[in-house]
Amino acid sequence: MDPSKLRVEGKKMIEVVADYWETIRTRRPIPDVKPGYINHLVPAHPPKQPESWDKIYEDLERVVFNGSSHWNHPHFFAYFPAGIGYHSILADIISSGMGSVGFTWIACPPITELEKTVLDWLVILMGLPEHFKNSHPGPGCGIIQSSASDSTLIAILTARATKVEYLKKNPSTFQQFKNTTSLAIRRIFYWPVPIQSSTESTDIITPYYHDPTVFKDFVMYFCDQGHSSVEKGAMLAGVRFRKLKGTRKYLDNFGLDPETLQKAIEEDRSRGYIPFMLVATVGTTATCGVDQISELGPICLKEGLYLHVDAAYAGSFAFCEEFIYLVKGLEHVDSYNFNLHKAGMINFDCSPLWFKNGTYASRYYNVDPVYLAHEYQSTSTDYRHLEIPLGRRFRSLKIWFTLRNMGVEKIKEYQRKTVSLATLFAKIIVENGKFEIFTPPHLGLATFRLKNHSNSDNERLLRAINRDRRIHLVPSIVHGTFLLRFCVGSPLTSEGDIYDTRRVIYEISRNLFLK
Ligand code: PLP
Repeated sequence: MDPSKLRVEGKKMIEVVADYWETIRTRRPIPDVKPGYINHLVPAHPPKQPESWDKIYEDLERVVFNGSSHWNHPHFFAYFPAGIGYHSILADIISSGMGSVGFTWIACPPITELEKTVLDWLVILMGLPEHFKNSHPGPGCGIIQSSASDSTLIAILTARATKVEYLKKNPSTFQQFKNTTSLAIRRIFYWPVPIQSSTESTDIITPYYHDPTVFKDFVMYFCDQGHSSVEKGAMLAGVRFRKLKGTRKYLDNFGLDPETLQKAIEEDRSRGYIPFMLVATVGTTATCGVDQISELGPICLKEGLYLHVDAAYAGSFAFCEEFIYLVKGLEHVDSYNFNLHKAGMINFDCSPLWFKNGTYASRYYNVDPVYLAHEYQSTSTDYRHLEIPLGRRFRSLKIWFTLRNMGVEKIKEYQRKTVSLATLFAKIIVENGKFEIFTPPHLGLATFRLKNHSNSDNERLLRAINRDRRIHLVPSIVHGTFLLRFCVGSPLTSEGDIYDTRRVIYEISRNLFLK
């Protein structure tokens, strides 16, 4: 293939994508395939000779589209949305088309420079704290990660390193632990001189900031409504964690009560543990609940806990003035992340993460091999020090294209539409008297269940809905109650689709239980 052939086939491929969007309604939101279905369609051995593009196009329908879940189908109400915008598709073409990789600033300067700028644009558009800006003279910074899971993991590792560093530098602060039986806590007082991980020694290295014997008794907190990626992050970081029970106190949607946090910190300290972090959620997966940052932040500050906020889904809504409460209290936060690739109309992957002390945090991961050194190292940003992979894509192009040509007003319009459709659904699903709303709809998410029916009946209903394949929902369980989640994501969903969806749910539930 040469550039002239690329021109021809590239145009055809754009046609395929445009056709996909124009005909998406004719498909079912989820496929009727079983694991291994592809074995009947794709040979086990690779072709011996190159095949024609025409043949490959033909197989796209059979192999790919026909077996896919269509996340932007107007009746796909599962999970949280997979942001989509044609602007991102075009930006990804440029990113892949250039094929440059942003190892360091010098490896591809626009990858770093544009990312720094568009993240500052987001700070302005969403009313985030000024100190997050890359252009701010302080140590704050913003970086695009691949996902909320990556962001949470890097935040946990940063919180862990911050506490390890603090304990090593301030051993006297820990007089209060002198009487505990925990050996690890006592050993902190005798900590040896820091060892740099970049030494050429072939002996065992104990990285100063990541010393497992120091964090052995650390404990981090999150609400029991936090996403599974928080628990996974804690496991990957090798730290203990404690899930605190959410309440209906704020927004009636199961958030973390500040009193619960305070009590847990005191209890755990008296048991000899070292509380080091809270991961709070703005927009929980089950009910779109909110841990109130403005109340939790001061506790974290007082108790020396690092505070990370996971606003994976809800964060994008801060574009809209009426949802500005979602970012209230962020001045207390050490790191903050949300996914533009959920409700931000930008394709996966695009997960901005801001640090209050990013330039300090970058010390914790600084390994500096000669092959990555460059002459602007002391005057530029090398994002490699704040993320797990070294290689990085040109993700900021998606934000740049979208904000410039689509404009933020269109994103707000889309978000407001999802909110009003979820509210409409919550209002009309209860009209036959057979269903109840579990939590008040919040943003684009409504939760509901069959009234006066057991969890297993509700589970049966959900299974029947998904087997029917006209709409797609996923469930959740909150404090023992099984519920159905209804989240509007596709920009194509209309009011008519909400009424159609209700009709489908009524029909299926009538056939199952209400004859
Ligand atoms: N946090 C919350 C609240 C989520 O709802 C999700 C996914 O839906 C995640 C984190 C994980 O997001 P990602 O796929 O970007 O890791």
